[in-house]
Amino acid sequence: LSERLSGVFDRLTKQGALSEDDVKTALREVRVALLEADVSLPVARDFVKAVQAKATGQAVTKSITPGQQVVKIVHDELVHVLTGDEDPGKLKIDNPPAPILMVGLQGSGKTTTTAKLAKRLKERENKRVLMASLDVNRPAAMEQLQILGAQIGVDTLPIVKGEDPVTIAKRAKTQAAMGGYDVYMLDTAGRLHIDAELIAQAAAVRDVAQPRETLLVVDGLTGQDAVNVATEFDDKIGVSGVVLTRMDGDGRGGAALSMRAVTGKPIRFVGLGEKMDAIETFEPSRIAGRILGMGDIVSLVEKAQETLEAEQAERMMRRFTKGQFNMNDLRSQLEQMMKMGGMEGMMSMLPGAAKMQKQMDGAGIDDKMLKRQIALIQSMTKRERANPQILQASRKKRIAKGAGLEVSELNKLLKMHRQMADMMKKMGKMGKGGMLKQAMK
Ligand code: GDP
Ligand code: MG
Repeated sequence: LSERLSGVFDRLTKQGALSEDDVKTALREVRVALLEADVSLPVARDFVKAVQAKATGQAVTKSITPGQQVVKIVHDELVHVLTGDEDPGKLKIDNPPAPILMVGLQGSGKTTTTAKLAKRLKERENKRVLMASLDVNRPAAMEQLQILGAQIGVDTLPIVKGEDPVTIAKRAKTQAAMGGYDVYMLDTAGRLHIDAELIAQAAAVRDVAQPRETLLVVDGLTGQDAVNVATEFDDKIGVSGVVLTRMDGDGRGGAALSMRAVTGKPIRFVGLGEKMDAIETFEPSRIAGRILGMGDIVSLVEKAQETLEAEQAERMMRRFTKGQFNMNDLRSQLEQMMKMGGMEGMMSMLPGAAKMQKQMDGAGIDDKMLKRQIALIQSMTKRERANPQILQASRKKRIAKGAGLEVSELNKLLKMHRQMADMMKKMGKMGKGGMLKQAMK
């Protein structure tokens, strides 16, 4: 896949512009590549369609290659589709004891993942966890969990031979409540394939435990099948999230995309090995990079992003040095300042700004002021922002009122704008290239 994609993008890289045909040809290859990464056919088709729509509307930026641009669009769209929860690693475990139900096929990694998550909850959130194995089918399955529990220092429910899964779940619930546990995890039995009995058993356990989270554990190396498994489990049992295991193997992770697209369920964790620490919170951009063929493409994307930003900055600078510094520019500068750690951090980076810094300090300019200034600019009309010189008394009153501030505050902002515009104009005249441009590098 990696080679195939690189090939496509190399070809694009060598051409000057990105025509609609180029996009189409490239995306045909992307689609094949996705299928090779085990993304299911309908998902690959929809994905390509979405990218096509986005790519075709976009102007070609001259300083990045068309290939980089397509990579970036493909990558961003992958991240977009893969992104589920804002904080996938946060399990709903308020109101102790909170039950977590683990479901999935046999060998998918349920027992291992149960222990990994228990360790995480214990170490990162300081939770008291009780684990219980409901796997009455496989010999030694219960002992497996018990051994892992001893290894990570997490309690397991005592084993009673001959009990059925529902009885064990009830016992776990009681024990968790009486023992003052924050969380109890139910590790269920799996089958090689989904069958009615497996589903019925899991549903019965679900009804008894009323789990706060039902995590479906899926082997990340299985492709197509993973989607069917996820759909089935979600329909019959209801799943709150997915854990993809064996992502330390060389599977491409296409299952992640299909599962997310088809079931809409968020991927929460990724298993990265047999060790108890080998689990991480799901990161969309990492999997996107993997589906596209690992690091080289991701770094290419980052480079493209940087170039784009640098180009925007340069375009802005060109305008500033011509004296075209309007309120929209000022606002984006102010917002930039907020992002870059406020006034001081920003000012220390501008050449020749020490004097202005003093003036600002004198005027009591701080980060709260940045917010007020942005509010003032927001209450200006489009025309006023482009031509601040048209601001007369009545307009000023309206703007200040709109922002809930005094006119004097607006006057300060206007003065600052004029000073900055003057300064930038002067800098633009200082020799070829200009100081600011130099400083931008
Ligand atoms: P269960 O039948 O669903 O409970 O699966 P197990 O938890 O018993 O795991 C089956 C096998 O897969 C064990 O040998 C685990 O060590 C292994 N395993 C589980 N998760 C991972 C993972 O993320 N990466 C790798 N490489 N192996 C894993
Ligand atoms: Mg097991």
